[in-house]
This record gives sequence, C-alpha cells and structure tokens, in this order.
Amino acid sequence: MKEKCRFCGRESVSVLYHPTKAGEKQAAEFSCTNCGFGKHGVIVRCSNRRMVYVNEKISQKRISTYYEVADDPLYFAEQPARRRTFGRYLRRLAEIYPERGKLLDVGTNTGLFVRLAIDAGWGAVGLEPNRWAAEYAKKNYDITLVNKPFDRKAFPKASFNVVTMWDVIEHFNDPIAEIGNVFWYLRPGGVFAFSTVDPESVLARFSGTHWPWYMEMHRAFLTPATAEKYLRTAGFKKVIFKPHFRNLSLGYLATRLMAINPELAAFVGRLFKILSIDKIIVPYYANDVYECYAYK
Ligand SMILES: [Zn+2]
Repeated sequence: MKEKCRFCGRESVSVLYHPTKAGEKQAAEFSCTNCGFGKHGVIVRCSNRRMVYVNEKISQKRISTYYEVADDPLYFAEQPARRRTFGRYLRRLAEIYPERGKLLDVGTNTGLFVRLAIDAGWGAVGLEPNRWAAEYAKKNYDITLVNKPFDRKAFPKASFNVVTMWDVIEHFNDPIAEIGNVFWYLRPGGVFAFSTVDPESVLARFSGTHWPWYMEMHRAFLTPATAEKYLRTAGFKKVIFKPHFRNLSLGYLATRLMAINPELAAFVGRLFKILSIDKIIVPYYANDVYECYAYK
C-alpha cells in the first residue's frame, strides 16, 4: 500500500529517489560542500497531483534556522547578473499589471528586487526571515524589509496588488499553505508572480537523483500542472506560465558544471578567469525553471 500524501491526503505516494548519502562516492561527486547540490533526503511523488517532495518530518521553524547562517559570497558575485534577471521580471510585470501599485516580495534576501521595483514605480516592500540579509537590505538599499516569517500576521489582509516569490516557493515545507497566504494578501484582481524549478522538466528527468535542485534547502517541487491545480483550488481565476531566461556570469555557469564533474568545473572556472571573461554576463534559458503568473 502506498503512503498518504501530506498535501492531497490520498494514499498515492511512492519513492522517486532514495536519499543520496554523503559517504557514497557517487554522491560526493555530485555535491559541493558550499552549495549541497544533489544532496537530498528521500524524494517522493504523489501520483494524484504529482507533487514531488522531500518526505521528512521537519518543522518550518527548523528549516528557517538554515537561513540564519547564510553567508553566500557567490550571491554577491552574481549581483550584476541578478540585476538583469530582475529587470526581466519587472518588464514582464509591467506588461501583466501596467497600473502598478503595492508589491510584496517574499524571500527577498538582500532586497535588490525591492529596490529595483521601487525604482520602476512600485510601492514595494520585502519580507525576509534572514536577519543578516534584512540588515544588509536596510543599510544598502534603503528599503522597507520586514524581518518576519511568511504567515498571515505580517501585514493586513488584501493589502497588495502583486506578490512575488522568485526562486522561493521550493524552500517552503508546505507550498500549498503559502499559496493560501499569498491569496490572503492579494487584492481582488491582484497577481501572484513566481519562478520555481520543475521536477518534470527534461533537465530534471535527465539528471535524475543528481538534479542539482534536489538539495537540503529545497523541500517541495511543483510541476506547472501541479501548481495550476493548487492555485485554482486556492481561488486563483487565471494562471499563465512563461519560459524562464536568466542572466548569469560565465564564472557562475562554470560552477554549475560541478554537477557533472568537479575537476571540469574548476578547470573551466580557471580558464574563464585567465581569459578575463568570467564576469561576462550571458542570457541563459533555464529549461528546468518556469515563471508563473496567477490572477486573483
Ligand atoms: Zn498528493
């Protein structure tokens, strides 16, 4: 008999990937100590709504503590590239919601997106549980950033026109509850915009258990179809999907080769540095990432 799905309640869960153990050679090859790519617990899939998730009992509170130790030099090295990716998001939002208004960015990290959104005419605020990141945001970007968890007590109900979550929803233990929270915060006609990784993408299926996004901090994975089902259940009226292009430096792209071969990644990284092209920013079509825009 199959196990009960903790999202839809049906006995429809089976193991998709067994845990990758640190001691095994294969797992070590496919993980890097700094980012933990490919290091994960048991990954299961629900055959009813096709939710893919890490089947471990762990509280959101405990997960949140992971974020308090985030000191991520790569994050800052990628800031110029991220600026361009955020520019893409803002151009898309200007098409989808031209009148602009109040915007909440959930999991804003250091707050760069909030800063750029304000510059683009939005009344934007950020929410970030990481204390260090929140302090950085206030000091460097002069923005309002709420240092609280994402529940229904952080702001009044229906106080935003747009809620954004860029590469964040997969970090939540219960993304369905978070979708409900977003719905709660949106005004009628408001838009929930997010990007996330797709466990049924060609790249994910090809990589199998070594897909880099199966990592300790990622708890649940929504395929576009799964996301649409749960968004409509929460009350969203219209859901659209867009392919995702992001900007990355050649230096960062080299680190992604880590999932294939660490020596190769180090070699290409050095080569790019010698050629002084490591800081060149290129657009990159991420086959395993999608953007979703849901209308309340
Ligand atoms: Zn289910």
